[in-house]
Amino acid sequence: MRYDTVIVGGGIAGLQAAIQLGRYQYKVLVIDDGDGRSAICHNYHNILGYPNGISGPELLRLGREQAGVLGVEFVEDTAVSVEKRESDFVIETKEGQRYECRRLLLATGVMDRIPPWPELRPCLGNSVYVCPDCDGYEISGKKTIVLGSGNPGANMARILSFWSKDIIFVNHEGREVDSDVRRRLDEKGIRYVEELIDRILADDTAFQGVLLKSGEKVEAERGFVAFGGNEVKSQLAEGLGVDLHTNKHILADPRTKMTNIEHVWAAGDILAHSEQVTIAMGDGSQAGIWIHKSLVKEDKGE
Ligand SMILES: Cc1cc2nc3c(=O)[nH]c(=O)nc-3n(C[C@H](O)[C@H](O)[C@H](O)COP(=O)(O)OP(=O)(O)OC[C@H]3O[C@@H](n4cnc5c(N)ncnc54)[C@H](O)[C@@H]3O)c2cc1C
Repeated sequence: MRYDTVIVGGGIAGLQAAIQLGRYQYKVLVIDDGDGRSAICHNYHNILGYPNGISGPELLRLGREQAGVLGVEFVEDTAVSVEKRESDFVIETKEGQRYECRRLLLATGVMDRIPPWPELRPCLGNSVYVCPDCDGYEISGKKTIVLGSGNPGANMARILSFWSKDIIFVNHEGREVDSDVRRRLDEKGIRYVEELIDRILADDTAFQGVLLKSGEKVEAERGFVAFGGNEVKSQLAEGLGVDLHTNKHILADPRTKMTNIEHVWAAGDILAHSEQVTIAMGDGSQAGIWIHKSLVKEDKGE
């Protein structure tokens, strides 16, 4: 089966691109394995039109429905390899399927490293967050625990002191924090705790604090997760020879979102400096527009 465009990753960026391309009536396939940030965030903030937020799974459902009406096809699978042929790409999946396409859009995203505390999951997006630019506002004036590790956790605590004066950093993994970073925590009056978290305290979606291994209960209204070592899903891009930033995010033309490999585009969190829903949507639209321009040019024989 040959598609005009295959989009790997059906999260926010991939779905917005699918809608854009669907409206040009191209033959588009989205391959998605359902393991994205948008699937785990129960309430997105900072989005025009949703002052009280919208859940990630609900946004995904609406996006798939909207793209589906435009004829976009979906498969639930994992793309495991991509090969560039003369004028096409061949994508192989975990289920052993092969898909050919003229243009490839990578919208594979990033996944946060979050310990598997079951009580934490329903809180994600509701009372526990990962991105200060998205959700710093949500902790305004509220006692907040940063559940994290080493410098990433300490730096998150420091950033969050912009919104709240009552911040505690629990260095769960006990990784080293640089002395100058520790000093800045002290200067800002941030309590530093170096101890294992035994359990998350929560009432369904409402984070209430942590129970430390020592038996101490640390109560708070909000949480932030910052363990560092998030998975940047750029392996397919790397295999194709796409240029990556030092942090493994994809580098692309800021205007067109095309990478250094002709006919390979990228959008969303996988790109350097893009880790918000509205930015992922913008990237997806922009990539879709420029994929369209390139297909039109090719079809005219230019
Ligand atoms: C707890 C939490 C709270 C957040 N709160 C906010 C907020 O309030 N406001 C905000 O703007 N942003 C927020 N974000 C960030 C937001 O979720 C991301 O910016 C957004 O999801 C980026 O969209 P994306 O399409 O790039 O990636 P994703 O939504 O992660 O989608 C990527 C998709 O690609 C799929 N995929 C990856 N590799 C493959 C493969 N090889 N084959 C098939 N499929 C693959 C994944 O399964 C996934 O479905 C939050 C994130 C988290 C985790």
